[in-house]
Amino acid sequence: MHKKEYFNDAIWCHNRKETSYWLEGLPEFKDIINQPPRQVDVAIVGSGYTGLNAALQTIRGGRSTVVLESGVPGQGCSTKNGGQISTSIKPSLEKLSAKFGAQKGLAIRQEGENALKWIEDLIKSEKIDCSFSRVGRYHAAHTQKHYELIARNAEEIKRSEGIEAYTVSKNEQLKELGSDVYHGGVIFPRHASVDPGKYHRGLLQKVTEAGVDVVGHCAVLDIEKKSDGFVITTQEGEVKARDVVIATNGYTSNLTPWLQKRVIPIGSYIIATEELDPVMVQELFPTNRIASDTCKVVYYYRTSPDRKRILFGGRVSATETNPMVSGPKLLKDMFRIFPQLKGTKISHSWTGTVAYTFDEMAHTGQHNGIYYSMGYCGSGVSMASYLGMRLGQKVLGIPEGKTAFDGLPFPTRPLYNGRPWFLPAVVSWYRMQDRIQYQQASRRVVA
Ligand SMILES: Cc1cc2nc3c(=O)[nH]c(=O)nc-3n(C[C@H](O)[C@H](O)[C@H](O)COP(=O)(O)OP(=O)(O)OC[C@H]3O[C@@H](n4cnc5c(N)ncnc54)[C@H](O)[C@@H]3O)c2cc1C
Repeated sequence: MHKKEYFNDAIWCHNRKETSYWLEGLPEFKDIINQPPRQVDVAIVGSGYTGLNAALQTIRGGRSTVVLESGVPGQGCSTKNGGQISTSIKPSLEKLSAKFGAQKGLAIRQEGENALKWIEDLIKSEKIDCSFSRVGRYHAAHTQKHYELIARNAEEIKRSEGIEAYTVSKNEQLKELGSDVYHGGVIFPRHASVDPGKYHRGLLQKVTEAGVDVVGHCAVLDIEKKSDGFVITTQEGEVKARDVVIATNGYTSNLTPWLQKRVIPIGSYIIATEELDPVMVQELFPTNRIASDTCKVVYYYRTSPDRKRILFGGRVSATETNPMVSGPKLLKDMFRIFPQLKGTKISHSWTGTVAYTFDEMAHTGQHNGIYYSMGYCGSGVSMASYLGMRLGQKVLGIPEGKTAFDGLPFPTRPLYNGRPWFLPAVVSWYRMQDRIQYQQASRRVVA
């Protein structure tokens, strides 16, 4: 795409925004404080789903708690994501069993289901108004080979893990998704959608009502271990805390170098369209499921909760870029999948940084006495929430805090220091493979 097109008015709404669609209509949250307390039981760094769910546990367990956030609370991924909720465990049971044994492998996989079930219960019991719905996912195959692969996987996970999943052939596909480019897919009927901004806002309300101090614009600059706890240096002064929780995920920095060497920050990019004709939305998303595909560099998309827009996300650039550049690229890819949308404009284009890990798993535990949970590999709505909650229970010292992730090695690589120099090459390679597979598959169909 020519550079001029980035600024082509034909593809942008006149009031376009480079901020998350999910922040639209959310009033400013007032219960944020400017100065941290000088002493607390628990200090939590980061105000996303991980940090807030940990805080809800510690405050309700009787520990005074502060959440320290470098910017506006929720400014990380937790108000910027696609709002698609899956079971969030990437490695297969086979892989995990080969590595950790069958029992542990199954227990880790089960945590994905636990997280999904738990977030639904949390939203219901706390009465958080955030459009949570078990709409199910349509996972679409970009080639016939991938269709066969995911169909086999669906059978396997049904048999070995009891996970509900069923196939949809290419002939039946239009009943699920108004696109011809895919070769069928698999439905995961228990996957869910949520309004991630409202979910985050609900959590903020709950933690502040429970008595947590949430401090905005208060970056943590240093954490020093002492005999009786920690001294935390923030841009607003020092805080003494008995326990510290790191909940910084894709924004993990050299504040915690050991963690920084173990997570790979990756930008994820997403757009929201202008309001669409309801007949068109019905044609493209007849069952209202969330959707993703089998590309190595995955696309994920859905309707907005009011079914007026489409939110379309993916990784469209080998190097990190900005929403003015990623927006048109995403739009072009969306038109390839849904040619019916040609001429549609972008109303919002934004980005956030997720954290991948070298073994594609989330990690939680304690290092040098500091608690942490991170590395959700782009699927953290339920897992960050769930592991944040378990981390809070760990801080309380109660047995419920245990998870199947406990005690797993958190791998890094020699010479890796938190700056993923290898990413552009990897993303380019994957995108090229996806493109070639797409082209070959569509040539076969035409032939
Ligand atoms: C575009 C996009 C789409 C996504 N789509 C999905 C999806 O559909 N489904 C899904 O499950 N997941 C999705 N994700 C991932 C998901 O949003 C994250 O995994 C999840 O929000 C992580 O929550 P968290 O609380 O761990 O981290 P975050 O919400 O990122 O919060 C970390 C916070 O730590 C703060 N921080 C960092 N350093 C400091 C410091 N020194 N001092 C104070 N504060 C600090 C940051 O400012 C930030 O607010 C998506 C992410 C993006 C960006």
